[in-house]
Amino acid sequence: MVLPENILYCLNTLERSGCEAWVVGGCVRDALLGRTPKDYDVCTRALPEQTRAVFAGHQLILAGEKHGTVGVVVEGQTVEITTYRTEGTYADSRHPDWVSFVGAIDQDLARRDFTVNAMAWSPNRGLRDPFGGRADLETKTLRAVGEPEQRFREDALRILRGIRFCAAYGLEPEEKTLGAMFSQRSLMDRLARERVYDELCGFLPCAGLEDLQRFAPILAQAIPELAPMIGFDQHSPHHAYDLYTHVAHVTAGVSRDLTVRWAALLHDIGKIPTFTRDETGRGHFYGHAPTGAKMAREVLLRLKAPGAMVQTVPTLIANHMLRLDPDRKQLRRQIRRLGFDAMEKLLDLQEADMTSKGTGEEEGRNFFPQIRALLMQIRAEEDVLAVKDLAVNGNDLLALGLRGKQIGQALDIVLGAVIDERLENEKEAELAWLRSVYEL
Ligand code: ATP
Ligand code: MG
Repeated sequence: MVLPENILYCLNTLERSGCEAWVVGGCVRDALLGRTPKDYDVCTRALPEQTRAVFAGHQLILAGEKHGTVGVVVEGQTVEITTYRTEGTYADSRHPDWVSFVGAIDQDLARRDFTVNAMAWSPNRGLRDPFGGRADLETKTLRAVGEPEQRFREDALRILRGIRFCAAYGLEPEEKTLGAMFSQRSLMDRLARERVYDELCGFLPCAGLEDLQRFAPILAQAIPELAPMIGFDQHSPHHAYDLYTHVAHVTAGVSRDLTVRWAALLHDIGKIPTFTRDETGRGHFYGHAPTGAKMAREVLLRLKAPGAMVQTVPTLIANHMLRLDPDRKQLRRQIRRLGFDAMEKLLDLQEADMTSKGTGEEEGRNFFPQIRALLMQIRAEEDVLAVKDLAVNGNDLLALGLRGKQIGQALDIVLGAVIDERLENEKEAELAWLRSVYEL
């Protein structure tokens, strides 16, 4: 394992002072998988006050000292060095209720959630792997350290971490671990919502169809609106799948963009409250898009998602039934309404939706390639899409004799006419047109 200079420096400095030290956790797992670790955690037998003394010449960050973590700033970067410890349950799912420092690395490794995360490595001593994490990585097995039920009872966030690791690394939960993830899942209700959101954001972009299906009860525990969708018969000739299976196909079928993944997961939640059946027994879901948009907003607000997510996902869901044609004027109007980015995301969602019905049939013709090509063309041409891009501005309209609210309205109708290609974006043409419209 090749360590960055600053990490190596910290390990060597501790060892030279007689304090055993290792890199530990996610970075060891990632290195064994041949991936570049996101960050490196150092752990040591040294107590926090010893660590402070060893690195006395450095800037130190002591906010986590109570839990055993001392941050040491080395060449502008903070290295977190944590004393070997065991810990109690996580009542707030953020910090353990208590920690106590221990003398041996294996005791520290025993508090960690999964065997693949419970390995340590040192340049002098090599791999420390008391729970068989390396073998589990090789066989692609997710296995709790210790008694699975107890470990999920201590901290139910581990259930969501577990599904994230399965999706990210293609792991299969071992039977007892999977059983405990399911049997303890209601304990997730007590977790801080933003932690749940963060884990789901880690899971969703790498989730495949199989992950979304086998972990459905766990996802439905985190987002109760999904629960009634599982196994729900849509009573429609256009849908061979039950509602959740359709949603799983769409979610796995869109790009890895996080916003689109959230939109896909939630795009049909409005189908449950809007479901009706006609006299022939066929199912209908009138207004499910706007209803779903409202529900998705509530879900994301509850999960304390950031503002941009709370904004964009409902917009995509509200528009997911919008019929788009390879028509330049229509596209320009929609781009103006939604913006380029949202349009691209909407196409992503709509295409996956269309191809995830399980009937083998596509509805009408597949226009998506043409619409995408047009979108790129419009973007490349830097076409007129906002009032600020018009040749005329507010001052020109004042000079024409328009006042107050009239000015904004006039700019809007000029923009509409330019987008519809009824008017050229050229100053004299726009002024002449306005004079005739306002009879000036
Ligand atoms: P990532 O790649 O997402 O960073 P990670 O495994 O490094 O994954 P971190 O949250 O950075 O996850 O935690 C570092 C290590 O701390 C983990 O590898 C694991 O050993 C331990 N750990 C983290 N959270 C928990 C938890 N909730 N319960 C038990 N051990 C945990
Ligand atoms: Mg990490």
